[in-house]
Amino acid sequence: MYVKKLGIFMNLKDEMHKLVQLQKIDLQIYRLIQERDVEKPAQIEKMEAGFQEKKKVLETLDKELKDLQVKRKNKELDLAAKEEAVKKSQAQLYQLKTNKEYQAKLTEIASIKADVSLFEEDVLKVFDSIEKADAKFKAEKERLICEEKKFKEEEAQVNLRMQAIGDEISNLDGKRNILAKGIDQTILTKYEKLLKTRFGVAMAAVDNDSCGACHMHVTAQKINEIKMYKELVFCESCVRLLYVSEDIPE
Ligand SMILES: [Zn+2]
Repeated sequence: MYVKKLGIFMNLKDEMHKLVQLQKIDLQIYRLIQERDVEKPAQIEKMEAGFQEKKKVLETLDKELKDLQVKRKNKELDLAAKEEAVKKSQAQLYQLKTNKEYQAKLTEIASIKADVSLFEEDVLKVFDSIEKADAKFKAEKERLICEEKKFKEEEAQVNLRMQAIGDEISNLDGKRNILAKGIDQTILTKYEKLLKTRFGVAMAAVDNDSCGACHMHVTAQKINEIKMYKELVFCESCVRLLYVSEDIPE
């Protein structure tokens, strides 16, 4: 069936056939763009976030280690002060005049020495904690270096894929532009508008009396209209351009 349009006779069935071919390419392009512009960047973002999380673990361990070192320094200062106090009291012993004062000083020295022992124990405990924290920190740092290497490799892989997608798109664009040139401009404009608003799927084959895209029932009358090729027929629900596969083999 030929229809007269803008003074030019065209075969709508032929146009539909070309559109189906174009749709196949356009859907590939749409999916590739999605992959390159949405999925892959999201993948990199997720990888980056995961790596940053692991980095935070190391930062926490680093802080723990630094806190312990400060604690050690303070404990050592406390110990030194106690040791100094022992020395001072021992020096005072020789200046005391009565036996009572002397005995009292000895008791005081013994008490400070007991403190010194406790402080020494504390310092040793902190040293022990530092050793453990340091080992943990070094192991985590080692792990993070491996993780970073892995992350960089994966990121490079994703970037390579994104570049390859770019090449594939250029290639498909070339093909689609050649094909599009042969299609009636009014029909093509309608089709392209749908393509933009319907996630890369402007057309739907009628399958078992329903729209292949939204699965809404298509009446027998509508199917007849499609087969008459007098005008474009759209799905009443999703407004995609309908065709019948048996008429237009892919
Ligand atoms: Zn539909």
